[in-house]
Amino acid sequence: MSLLSKFARYSLTFGPTPIEPLPRLSAALGGQIEIYAKRDDCNSGLAMGGNKLRKLEYIVPDAIASGADTLVSIGGVQSNHTRQVAATAAKIGMKCVVVQEKWVPHHDAVYDRVGNILLTRLMGADSRLVEDGFDIGIRQSWKDAILSVEAAGGKPYAIPAGASVHKFGGLGYVGFAEEVVRQEQDLGFTFDYVIVCVVTGSTQAGMIVGFAAQNRAERVIGIDASATPQQTRAQVRQIVDGTADLVGLGRKVREDEIVILPDYAYPAYGVPSPETNAAIRLAARTEAMITDPVYEGKSMQGLIDLVGKGYFPAGSRILYAHLGGAPAINGYSYYYKDG
Ligand SMILES: *Cc1c(COP(=O)(O)O)cnc(C)c1O
Repeated sequence: MSLLSKFARYSLTFGPTPIEPLPRLSAALGGQIEIYAKRDDCNSGLAMGGNKLRKLEYIVPDAIASGADTLVSIGGVQSNHTRQVAATAAKIGMKCVVVQEKWVPHHDAVYDRVGNILLTRLMGADSRLVEDGFDIGIRQSWKDAILSVEAAGGKPYAIPAGASVHKFGGLGYVGFAEEVVRQEQDLGFTFDYVIVCVVTGSTQAGMIVGFAAQNRAERVIGIDASATPQQTRAQVRQIVDGTADLVGLGRKVREDEIVILPDYAYPAYGVPSPETNAAIRLAARTEAMITDPVYEGKSMQGLIDLVGKGYFPAGSRILYAHLGGAPAINGYSYYYKDG
């Protein structure tokens, strides 16, 4: 029985996402473990898709029921999340205001013109650039945007950064865990570990609750990309508890079921290290799987490092959750001018 059967869902995605074997990447990393990717980056036809759409499927019914006419959200200049909120608003026929903060100390000449922000503007969202720096919490600039919609006679519906600290923000990835079990039945084997990038927290938190119902939440390895791991861990804990209550998990998730590794977020949120870029190149050259310098490149870096260190026993099957993010790479062209 699904933990989600009592919740309304508005379809924004194609349905279950494919699980793809990555044999050339596995071989390049020594061939002792089998790596697969669950392609949530290919989950939707809406503006190139990504993990926020899976979350938004459980938020949109509440937005519609509220009588709102404008979705309001927040992220960085190259935010995948605000792009997916803009896409959702266009698709359901609402207006959209997104605040885009200077979360990343990166100065590519066209950083605020290409990739995610280009798509966001193209879909008609009112994108407001502000100077504030990185913070996954609730921001004044977001509150100001909500008030500005009201002042103009609109009815805002507020979606926090990453759609995370929202009462329904964790539900989408509870569904991911249930989807994986069904796919494992078809595949005829189970995965030993799931690798997932974590920043605002509801992706991993939802997975933890979903996999806790199967007693394997501690096999979800979060790779922090925020570089503020204590704040991220606290936010994951909070979303895990809220989501577990909401779905009726029936027990408290233990601290040891929340695994977040802080070692790969350096030098800063949104800035790739040489090791991040090496990981991005390896995934591209072995599997034509495109990862980005902000999120998935760092979780790929973590996966590669952990395999090299022998973190996973030989014979393990690893499911890399690819959450999207490729549009942002356009804002980082200088790193990759020679490949
Ligand atoms: C938002 C995002 C993440 C992080 O997910 P959270 O739920 O914020 O922890 C990872 N990868 C991509 C591509 C994202 O857009």
